[in-house]
Amino acid sequence: MKKLYEGLNLFQRMAYPAHKALFERLAKNQSPQAVFITCSDSRIVPNLLVQAEPGDLFILRNAGNVIPPATVAPGGTIASLEYAVRALGIRDVVLCGHSNCGAMSGILHPESVESMPAVRSWVRHAEPALRAVRERFPEGDGDEVLDALVELNVVAQLRNVLTHGFVSALVEKGELELHGWVYDIASGTVKGLDADGKRFSPIGASGTGSRDERKLLASLEADEEFWERL
Ligand SMILES: [Zn+2]
Repeated sequence: MKKLYEGLNLFQRMAYPAHKALFERLAKNQSPQAVFITCSDSRIVPNLLVQAEPGDLFILRNAGNVIPPATVAPGGTIASLEYAVRALGIRDVVLCGHSNCGAMSGILHPESVESMPAVRSWVRHAEPALRAVRERFPEGDGDEVLDALVELNVVAQLRNVLTHGFVSALVEKGELELHGWVYDIASGTVKGLDADGKRFSPIGASGTGSRDERKLLASLEADEEFWERL
């Protein structure tokens, strides 16, 4: 904890005074630019990644950036998402997976989470991604397989997001946009899900990703054979 207390001191002596006006404004209300859903992994720092200030991002985090579908009784994750889009009126949702994800590794190696029933139960919401990965890689659990699982899990979770009526209604009206990202920790690069919902390509300074959200929605809502075409 020593490092945390030192950091707190530094924040109060240096960072807070430097941004006093911003914090005083934020004390009264918030108007975030986006919902940022990502993994709890300590190596992901959303505000650093997109150079956002306090108040810019409404952040939801859990193991594996998982969104339970509407068929499951709503918990804290869905409550936060509902509040973000309905109470705060946020119009963009970024769902960001990452390289070397421990939760995705746990799906590939079920024995590693055998003694953690809560984790095992939670990551079952990513099983469609695992099935899709196994179509592509019937065997193996190397980096290539884990990387594919991380990407397909972002697609699977966006599909889960869309099962919630309060999301799909806004998306259909063009009032809410969904974005699928994968962050590579080693290189600092980010890939975004293309409009066809089938592949990821570099975005930001490392790429020129462009997309059509309506088309992405149509792709994600495709028929039962969706995963076979990926
Ligand atoms: Zn992770």
